[in-house]
Amino acid sequence: MVKKFGDHTVLEGLDFTVSRGERVTLIGPSGSGKTTILRLVMTLEELTGGYIHIGGTPLQYEEQGGKRVRIPDKRRRRTTTGIGMVFQHFNLFPNMTVLENIIEAPVHVMGLSKDEAAHKAEALLDKVGMAWKKDARPSELSGGQQQRVAIARALAMDPEILLLDEVTSALDPELVGEVLGVLKDIAAETDISMLIVTHEMQFARDVSQRVMMFDHGSIVEEGTPEKMFSAPENQRTQDFLRAVL
Ligand code: ADP
Repeated sequence: MVKKFGDHTVLEGLDFTVSRGERVTLIGPSGSGKTTILRLVMTLEELTGGYIHIGGTPLQYEEQGGKRVRIPDKRRRRTTTGIGMVFQHFNLFPNMTVLENIIEAPVHVMGLSKDEAAHKAEALLDKVGMAWKKDARPSELSGGQQQRVAIARALAMDPEILLLDEVTSALDPELVGEVLGVLKDIAAETDISMLIVTHEMQFARDVSQRVMMFDHGSIVEEGTPEKMFSAPENQRTQDFLRAVL
């Protein structure tokens, strides 16, 4: 895939696959393109070239008579229902309650009835330990609690893949553990694929099968967490890990 912002090429010749149920962590210096990859998969950004496939279906573009045609927005939204994203700054709807935040997309995008969606939302809130706050507004919650609600909201769309973009970076240190704990449980209990951008190297070690080191929009090294964190071969990986660990 290729992604440019104006003349600035952020990703070039990037090609990788995440298998069903696989957890992959992207590491690398700030500005290397990690968040852009997640935003492209979520279709929050438009690809400049190439393709992204989810479960064999190309995102954003399709071939029609040998030509590359953009999928209309309405259908594109439907094609992304299998993807959930959790953002650094939670991004909950401030004017909605916790429960309303979670049922919004299942009702409006998946077409579930309000009752069905609420039933499912309560089970998900229970899973992330937030059922007791279902009628609260996001502003009444701590950052860790908001992030747990955001995780439940992403799961409400039955994602095949969960995109986690520095989900603990905006949290006070004492709240990081509760969010990572919820994510570790989800990783242990489901086969949802995960593409993770994080500076929490222990979390990356605990949940991912593969770590990819990015620099300047390309993969400079990849391998198991054991190999990447204990015996990185690439100089840039070594320098990066020395600076963050
Ligand atoms: P990372 O997540 O690794 O820190 P990003 O994906 O956020 O990196 O950014 C990669 C590069 O793309 C940076 O140079 C950044 O300035 C640029 N970039 C990201 N989003 C935009 C945008 N909307 N417009 C212009 N440039 C952008």
